[in-house]
Amino acid sequence: MSVLPKRFKRIKKVLDQRMENLTVLVEAVNKPHNLSAILRTCDAAGVLEANFISEDKEVKTFNSTAQGSQKWVKLRNHSTTNSAINSLKGKGFKLFGTTLNEKSIDYRDLDFTSKTCFILGAEKWGLSQEIISKVDECIFIPMNGMVQSLNVSVAASILLFEAVRQRKEKGLIPIKGEGLNKDLYKETLFEWCYPELINHYKKSAMNYPNLKENGEIES
Ligand code: SAM
Repeated sequence: MSVLPKRFKRIKKVLDQRMENLTVLVEAVNKPHNLSAILRTCDAAGVLEANFISEDKEVKTFNSTAQGSQKWVKLRNHSTTNSAINSLKGKGFKLFGTTLNEKSIDYRDLDFTSKTCFILGAEKWGLSQEIISKVDECIFIPMNGMVQSLNVSVAASILLFEAVRQRKEKGLIPIKGEGLNKDLYKETLFEWCYPELINHYKKSAMNYPNLKENGEIES
């Protein structure tokens, strides 16, 4: 069954604005509703892929909080802190650890227009020392209240939308798919349009087929 033309148009419009070069790394956020809320913000901000560190392959999200956004934001699982950091650094991301220490910089004083990864920490303990020692910058969101920290998903929203604001100001928000390399665009478009066929193609180690202008699969 082919994707409906109206849905195809909508999917393409959203994918056209996705950015490969903006992401988050979530360390030990163990409340599913927080992870779901972060994913929902990633979707709204145009993030293609979010990262998390967990020994378990599966991570729980809440659909009522994520509102289906888990279908539209890829979640990459890293089993260790080291592998997460090496992978993101290897891809050229600048790592911004969210924590308050004597070296932390007010997030409003930094530039998030190039490859940016915000690293978010656990509800109780914040970021581990291991991660803090490996990030490029430590950043914080200034607060004036009695409570010392924001909810992690709120912090993620503030930071991601600051990155979006800065990029908009510089005309760096993609509009025609230029935020993704061509192969990734093609692959993601197919997966978003035909999620029920992903396993079939993966199992048979076949490339995804091309799609026609209206979203139909080319025979
Ligand atoms: N007691 C923890 C600490 O000392 O970090 C509080 C953790 S806070 C509830 C959970 C996560 O939200 C933090 O690890 C950080 O990623 C993010 N966060 C909360 N408030 C923040 C702020 N003001 N600036 C930057 N990130 C913040």
